[in-house]
Amino acid sequence: MKTGITIPDIGDFKDVPVIEILVAPGARVDINTPLLVLESDKATLEVPSPAAGTITEISVRKGDKVSQGTLVMTLQTVHDAVATVSAASPAPNAAPDADLHAEILVVGGGPGGYTAAFRAADLGHKVVLVERRQTLGGVCLNVGCIPSKALLHAAKVIDEAKEFSAHGIAFGEPAIDLAALQKWKDGVVGRLTSGLSGLARKRNVTVVTGEAMFVTPHSVKVSAGGDVKTIGFDQAIIAAGSEPATLPFLPKDDPRIIDSTAALSVASVPDRLLVIGGGIIGLEMATVYHALGAKVTVVEATDQLIPGADADIVAPLMKRISKKYERVALNTKVVSVFPDEKGIAVRIAGPAGEETAVFDQVLCAVGRKPNGAGIGAEAAGVKIDVHGFIAVDETMRTNIPHIFAVGDVVGQPMLAHKATHQAKIAAEVAAGQNAAFAPRAIPSVAYTDPEIAWVGVTETKAKALGIDYGKGMFPWAASGRALSLARSEGLTKILFDPATHRIIGAGMVGPNAGELIAEAALAIEMGADATDIGLTVHPHPTLSETFAFAAEAFEGTLTDL
Ligand code: FAD
Ligand code: NAD
Repeated sequence: MKTGITIPDIGDFKDVPVIEILVAPGARVDINTPLLVLESDKATLEVPSPAAGTITEISVRKGDKVSQGTLVMTLQTVHDAVATVSAASPAPNAAPDADLHAEILVVGGGPGGYTAAFRAADLGHKVVLVERRQTLGGVCLNVGCIPSKALLHAAKVIDEAKEFSAHGIAFGEPAIDLAALQKWKDGVVGRLTSGLSGLARKRNVTVVTGEAMFVTPHSVKVSAGGDVKTIGFDQAIIAAGSEPATLPFLPKDDPRIIDSTAALSVASVPDRLLVIGGGIIGLEMATVYHALGAKVTVVEATDQLIPGADADIVAPLMKRISKKYERVALNTKVVSVFPDEKGIAVRIAGPAGEETAVFDQVLCAVGRKPNGAGIGAEAAGVKIDVHGFIAVDETMRTNIPHIFAVGDVVGQPMLAHKATHQAKIAAEVAAGQNAAFAPRAIPSVAYTDPEIAWVGVTETKAKALGIDYGKGMFPWAASGRALSLARSEGLTKILFDPATHRIIGAGMVGPNAGELIAEAALAIEMGADATDIGLTVHPHPTLSETFAFAAEAFEGTLTDL
C-alpha cells in the first residue's frame, strides 16, 4: 500500500523551510527513521517516518517551505498484507468446547512472555499465560541472567578482596560455604519469581502451569502431569524461548558434563574445569568458578573471545584471564571426550595440532537453540525455520496474522531486554495499537571482569559492511575514577558517522562498562552527535566521563589527554 507522508502537527509553525532531506527514493526506512529536517527561527525539527517501508517518491526539495499537512514523500509500507488484518476484530474463536478461553494467550513465562501478558492485561484484555515451569521468569530469572549475576557479584567480592592485598589491605583466603551461597542466590531468584506471580494476580492474568502445544490455529492443549486442558484463543503470543545447544559427541548422562543450568546450581567446585565456548555464558561462568577456586581452561573455536565485540574491546579481558586461568585457547575445538572414573579425558584440536587433557568437569557453552520446534506450531500454520526460529515482521506477527512471537524464539540477539521490548510491541499490536519494534540499537553486555559492553555498529561490522566511520577513544588509564578503583585497563570507544558526526556505535571495557553502555544506547536512539555528548556535563570523577571524553577526542576538543 502506498501512503503519503505529510508534515505532522509540529506545533506553532507555518511555512518552515526544509533544510535537509535525509533519504532518497528507494531508501528503506523504519518507523521513526528521520526523513527530513526543518528549521524555523525557534528550533530545528526532524520529521520521522510514520511507518516502515520504502520511500518511492519525494515531493519537496531543500529550501521548500512546508506546514502541517504538506505532502512530503510517498511510502510503500512493509506490512501491506498484514495491515489489512484488524487486530481489534480477530477471527472468531474456533475452540468453542475449550476449558478456558483467552482473548490473548501467551505461551512461555520468561521476560518475553510475562511482559507481553502484563502489557496485554494492562490494555484491557483477558489474558492466559501458560508456563511449563513451576515459577514464572523463564530462563532469565530462573537459570540465566539473575542467578548468574548473583554469582558474579560473589566472584567480584572474592577477587577484589584478594587483589587489594597488593594495595595494603589483606583479608586472607576466603572461607566459601557453597550451601549458603546457593541459598542466597536462590533467595534472589525466588524473590523475583514470586514477585512476578503477584504482579500476574494483580492484573487478573490467569497463569496455567503446563506444556502448551498448538492443536489448531485457535487452540492449544496444555499438559501437566496426566492432566490435559484445552485453551481457545482469539490471538496468541509465542514466547517459548531457548535452551542450551550441545555438541553431538558429549555424553548426556555424565553429571560432570554440564550446561549453564547445572553450572548455576554450583553443586560443587571442580579442581580443573574445561569451558567449551568463549562466548558470554562460557566466560561469565569461568569468572565465577575461577573465583571459587577452580583451575579454568577455556577453548574457543574462533580467533577471538566474544566474537560479536571488537577485538580491542575484548583485548583487556583476554590479557587479564590469560594470566589468571590455566589456559585460554583460541582457534581451538574439543573433538571428543572420554570420561572415566578418574576424570574426563578431552581431545582438543588447536593450531598446534591435537592433544589430550584431563578435567574434573566440562561446561558446554556453545550457544543456545530456540524452542520453536517443540510447540506444535505447525498445527496453527506458524512457519518455523530449520533452526527452530519463528520469523516475524516488525509488528512481531508471524505468518499467521493473529499469532505473534517474541524473544529468543524469533532470533538473535538472545537477550532479555530485547525480549521485553518485543513483547510490549506484540501486546500493543494485538490490542489494536499502531506499534513496531524498530530500535536503532540493542546493547550487549558480558558481565565478566572486566565487563565488556557494546551497542550499535562495531568496527568489525562497519569494515565488513563498508560503513564509513570516524572514531573517538579514551583509555581509562587517564581516568581518575578508574585509577582510584585500582583498574586502569579499560577503554571507551565511540564510532561516529563522519558526515553528520552522529554516534553510530560504542564499545566499552572495564568495571561497570555494562552500566555505562546505556548512555551510548540513549545517544544512538536520540541521534546525538559528538558535540551533544561532549557538551553534556558528566559528573567527576566517574567512569561515565570517559564517554564524553571519547566524543571530545573525536571532535579534537579533549584536554584530559
Ligand atoms: P525464556 O526466558 O527462555 O522463556 C521461555 C519460557 O517458555 C520458559 O520458561 C519455558 O519453560 C517456557 N516454555 C517453552 N515452551 C513452552 C511450552 N510449550 N509450554 C509452556 N511453556 C513453555 N540475557 C540478558 O539480557 N542479560 C543477561 O545477563 C543474561 N544472562 C544469561 C545467563 C545465562 C546463563 C543464560 C542461559 C541466558 C542469559 N541471558 C541473558 C539470556 C536471557 O536469559 C534470554 O535472552 C531471555 O530469557 C529470553 O527470554 P524469552 O522470554 O524469550 O525466553
Ligand atoms: P554464544 O554464541 O555467545 O557463544 C558461544 C561461543 O562458543 C562462540 O564464541 C563460539 O565461537 C564458540 N563455540 C561454538 N562451538 C564451539 C566448539 N565446538 N568449540 C569451541 N568453541 C565453540 O553463546 P553462549 O555464550 O552459549 O550464550 C548463548 C546466548 O545467551 C547468547 O546469545 C547470549 O546473548 C545470551 N547470554 C547473554 C548474556 C548477557 O547478556 N550477559 C549472558 C549469557 C548468555
